[in-house]
Amino acid sequence: MKLELSRVVQGGARLGVLKGLGRRGQHSLDVPGCLLYTHFGTVPHLTQDTLHAISSIPSVTQVTLSHVAEHQEVLEEFKDGFRRFAAGLHDTVVYCSLHDPATPCPAGHTTNKTVSVWGSGGRIELTAAKFMALQRSIQPDWYQSMADGETWLNNTSRKRVRKSVDRTLAHLDECLLAHKNSQELEGAEIFGVVEGGDVLEERVRSARETAKRPVGGFCLDGFQTGSMDGALRTQLVTAVTKELPEDKPRLLQGVGRPDEVLACVGAGVDLFEAFFPFLVTERGGALCFSFDICPDPERAGSAPGAEVDEEREAAGETQQKGDPIEDGQTQMTPFEINLKETRYREDFGALVEGCGCYCCRNHTRAYLHHLLVTNELLAGVLLMIHNTCHYQGFFWALREALATDTLPLLRRRLLSKGGSPEGRNK
Ligand SMILES: [Zn+2]
Repeated sequence: MKLELSRVVQGGARLGVLKGLGRRGQHSLDVPGCLLYTHFGTVPHLTQDTLHAISSIPSVTQVTLSHVAEHQEVLEEFKDGFRRFAAGLHDTVVYCSLHDPATPCPAGHTTNKTVSVWGSGGRIELTAAKFMALQRSIQPDWYQSMADGETWLNNTSRKRVRKSVDRTLAHLDECLLAHKNSQELEGAEIFGVVEGGDVLEERVRSARETAKRPVGGFCLDGFQTGSMDGALRTQLVTAVTKELPEDKPRLLQGVGRPDEVLACVGAGVDLFEAFFPFLVTERGGALCFSFDICPDPERAGSAPGAEVDEEREAAGETQQKGDPIEDGQTQMTPFEINLKETRYREDFGALVEGCGCYCCRNHTRAYLHHLLVTNELLAGVLLMIHNTCHYQGFFWALREALATDTLPLLRRRLLSKGGSPEGRNK
């Protein structure tokens, strides 16, 4: 794996390409970018055929131990790794993370030697030995090291934060040792985890110590939406990325809102987990925020979301500066519309005028509203298609803005039209 940076904007934003990904080095991924979010190797609601009908899906697929851990025996029996087990994943890079970013897990279950993940059958306690046995059965290309990440809750003491950094470094050393001696994990990259809660010194110590180890990249944990004020997050992420080597990717866990993504890209983050479109789909929402920064008046308004913004503005829907922003991952955000609302019952327009996705080309908001209120499974399928496309389009626009020095324009566009002022969420 090699990270080629074509541009580093003052302040920290990085534009580049991760090359030579996968065991044969045949894949690449543009950064800033996101991973493909899955449940046990499948994008929720979508079959592999439907997924591949979407253009430009990310080349790195995220699977989580919380989904895989309870199938360890089956995978060990299968012997050929998760990619082959989940048919259709043959041509992708597999990244294995500890937790599912869309499902917060209960706290209070870590010890000096173990962490816990929650599968459909309940809690599974992992020692480093069990964690590494799982990785050997999954055979990922990248995987997150075992980590004690329980410091994002409010009122976590400094002592507890320090302990989480120490534990996470000890877990990393144990994982690196087992990794070195494992034939099944030959060629795989281990991502070290930076912890430290909201304590600046601990964040810096965690980053420095992790950077001394032979890791392929870094996971920035404990910054998830709802865990801290956006301004504090940006400040801490900036301090962390300054300590990390330039030539290795930084993956931020648990952050997916467009405004937060933009702020964290500015703080030096390269990769994100793309669980946000899934959360929006689950609440019957369609992403409709605008990321069109085209200065050409002929083309202005043709990008996904442009017309919707005007409609939403006219309807008084758009979030205005000064409006309160809801906390956490589960609340509706200003970047989406809720198609369950009765106002869409006779709205015969596309979800987003000008969007080229299958859903917008073929269906109306009224039809989606009907599918949602009658609990038809197709609603999730169509919304997931659109939301995935829209989110990928946003990352494309983000890279374009970095390449053309128009990041401030994109930020203004996002915050004034269906966006929210950076750092206002808690
Ligand atoms: Zn669409």
